Amino acid sequence: MAKRDYYEVLGVAKQATDEEIKKTYRKLAVKFHPDKNPGDKAAEESFKELGEAYEVLSDHQKRAAYDLHGHAAFDARSRVPGAGGRGAGGFHDPFEVFREVFSTGGGGGGIFGDLFGERADPTGPQRGSDLRYDLEISFKEAVLGCEREVSLFKPENCDSCRGTGATPGSSTKACATCGGRGQVVSSRGIFSIAQPCSRCEGAGRVIEKPCPQCRGGGRVEKTSKIKLKIPAGVDTGARLRSSGNGEAGLRGGPSGDLYVVLHVKDHELFRRDADDLICELPTSFVQMALGAEIEVPTLTGSANIKVPAGTHNGTVFRLKGRGVRNVQGHGVGDLLVKVVVEVPTHLNGAQRSKLQEFAGLCDANVNPHHKGFFDKARDFFK
Ligand SMILES: [Zn+2]
Ligand SMILES: [Zn+2]
Repeated sequence: MAKRDYYEVLGVAKQATDEEIKKTYRKLAVKFHPDKNPGDKAAEESFKELGEAYEVLSDHQKRAAYDLHGHAAFDARSRVPGAGGRGAGGFHDPFEVFREVFSTGGGGGGIFGDLFGERADPTGPQRGSDLRYDLEISFKEAVLGCEREVSLFKPENCDSCRGTGATPGSSTKACATCGGRGQVVSSRGIFSIAQPCSRCEGAGRVIEKPCPQCRGGGRVEKTSKIKLKIPAGVDTGARLRSSGNGEAGLRGGPSGDLYVVLHVKDHELFRRDADDLICELPTSFVQMALGAEIEVPTLTGSANIKVPAGTHNGTVFRLKGRGVRNVQGHGVGDLLVKVVVEVPTHLNGAQRSKLQEFAGLCDANVNPHHKGFFDKARDFFK
């Protein structure tokens, strides 16, 4: 039975946008889903046909290949030796297509990144390589989240042939070397050995007029700008996956992914301990002795802490919920403010005499630890 045109199956125009294709698929797939039409063979066939059409038209590379070669684009693949195991014509289970679309919305770089994965035949479509990009962000960007745009020089699908490698308007022709079979058979003694044809790389067809832009390779190196959404709470070493933003695939294969490894710059005021923020607050010994209300910085403004009279150096005050939002969504950390008493330096005459006067007024009750320490030291040396 002749296959229907994929655009016809979905009932969309050749110029239909990805959005239109997805919307139409969702509507029709629900209508023809076997669960809704028990025992209806025709509905089941329609459901399968829809899955196949959507799988091709929702993936830019496969759609381009289909526009150029029609159904033959995928028949050729199933003829490639060793490319079996993907079901008839190399398509996914229609129920899997349905699940993908309804669970994730089917967005981003086609829905079947794994379909032509590394295990695919080397002469068939190949997934592009994954790329790594190291990105330095500020402390505040890491804690609060941000959007960044990065520029990458990498192989992209050629614009002028949409990655097919063929001059627009031209088509493919049967490979002369193997007569379109994709294999060449040579004889050695009593054995005949079939090998993938080297000219067409086993596909059985060759491009009539290679695209001049990419010389038939389907890819060109160029600079791409990629927008990244960095979630709040990330830290150095966090790895973000930007799906489909790696190198473009080969021969209609999907693109690889881009992995962004984050490096967070130090902050002048804050340090992190998991989701808690730590800030060291310089204070005077007078403030600590008398007690004070002190304004402290937070990442989103300022807050006040009440330091009671007689607070020791190193005391930590905890401001609940003023830390870092957990990147997995497990609440928010605290801000820990550690008091660091500064000893006065560069005293002028008046300050010095006041301090001396103060010292003269001090007895053992003012610095109890001081006296206790020297009492113990005296016992030790006895
Ligand atoms: Zn090209
Ligand atoms: Zn050939």
